[in-house]
Amino acid sequence: MTELFTVRTPPAAWQLFLQHFQPTVRTERIATADALDRVLAETLLSPQDLPDFARSTVDGYAVNAADTYGATPTLPAFLAVTGEVPMGQASALQLGVGEAAIVHTGGMIPAGANAVVMVEHTQRVDGASIEVMKPVAEGENVIQVGEDIRQGATVLSAGRQLRPQEIGGLLALGITEITVAAQPRVAILSTGDEVVPPTQTPTPGQIRDINSYSLAALVTRAGGQPLRYGIIPDDRTALETAARRAHAEADIIVLSAGSSVSYRDMSVDVIDGLGRPGVLVHGVSVRPGKPTILAVCDGKPVFGLPGNPVSAMVIFDLFVTPTIRALLGANPLLQNQVQARLTRNIASTTGREDYVQVRLEQRADGLWAVPVLGKSNLIYTLVNAEGTIKVPLDSNGLAAGEWVTVLLA
Ligand code: AMP
Ligand code: MG
Repeated sequence: MTELFTVRTPPAAWQLFLQHFQPTVRTERIATADALDRVLAETLLSPQDLPDFARSTVDGYAVNAADTYGATPTLPAFLAVTGEVPMGQASALQLGVGEAAIVHTGGMIPAGANAVVMVEHTQRVDGASIEVMKPVAEGENVIQVGEDIRQGATVLSAGRQLRPQEIGGLLALGITEITVAAQPRVAILSTGDEVVPPTQTPTPGQIRDINSYSLAALVTRAGGQPLRYGIIPDDRTALETAARRAHAEADIIVLSAGSSVSYRDMSVDVIDGLGRPGVLVHGVSVRPGKPTILAVCDGKPVFGLPGNPVSAMVIFDLFVTPTIRALLGANPLLQNQVQARLTRNIASTTGREDYVQVRLEQRADGLWAVPVLGKSNLIYTLVNAEGTIKVPLDSNGLAAGEWVTVLLA
């Protein structure tokens, strides 16, 4: 096996890739109710004040706060009850000095009132009057007009990925349809004569296909739409045919395995034949994942990932996830992370990035990161890990006891 010719650092590889990749965001209109996890492709301004009428936050009596000042259980304020605010309707009531109106949670504050006394702090004297035992300040127990959001204010900016609360917030404003980024279609091609579908029982020498499925799941998580092209044998013509079809149909093409330099590894030549400028990077100084291919072929990103399942996932996160995010016009993902101390030394060399899988252990003296050791063929090193630590390019290792940032998987 010959060595990879020019190995680049991950930042240098990414820079070169970006020089040839101009992402354009395709958009579509969808129902806001269906937009969970989608990325907004427009900046939305509020069409109204929310709420657009002042509302009570409690059950009680709408009052003029000044009428309750100084009230105590022994010296209560007497107020005349002039009516009840109906739910779901504007109130015609107009309170004068010394007057109160029954109001329920969410009910409109009638004209002349500026606060609500909780029913618990009042006592009915008779059908027409109450005693207030506790004063309220102006505005107390009232949501003001526009307190949630003001008319004309920016509701959400393009690039925001929508969580359940954003869906609720948009629908509160009557924004029932929105423009979002279309999900990039990501073709996944597994290659290798030894790879069989998971439904099949492998014969000696065969293995079940992991990468088609773990990578498809990563595509979905990144906001893309996975297209699985199945398992392609180590046959130049078969791989070319499948890769051409994927290149025509998808926005991003990912080849799993065959990315190295053995005579059986055809990914690099096949990718290079898909369009201009072709292969940009072959070999990245990352462990695991050195035999990685980055290409742009007639405007479409194409990746050749190592077949080892751990390498494939690490490299996918490093290069394919940001490419999907770029095609979504999405703000950077905020990945959950925790600080922990390392239980043992980790060796590395300068000029290489290492991604080390770790388990987390809560001990009496705090959180510890326990490296899960294992070769990059072993998918269960990922299953048994809760996160990843990165040993940076310029570091030649981390020492036991050192504080590290663990990116939670
Ligand atoms: P390669 O990148 O072709 O040198 O493959 C590296 C290792 O990954 C080999 O042991 C392959 O058998 C294994 N491998 C390749 N493709 C897959 C796959 N889809 N699922 C699981 N393992 C794979
Ligand atoms: Mg192979």
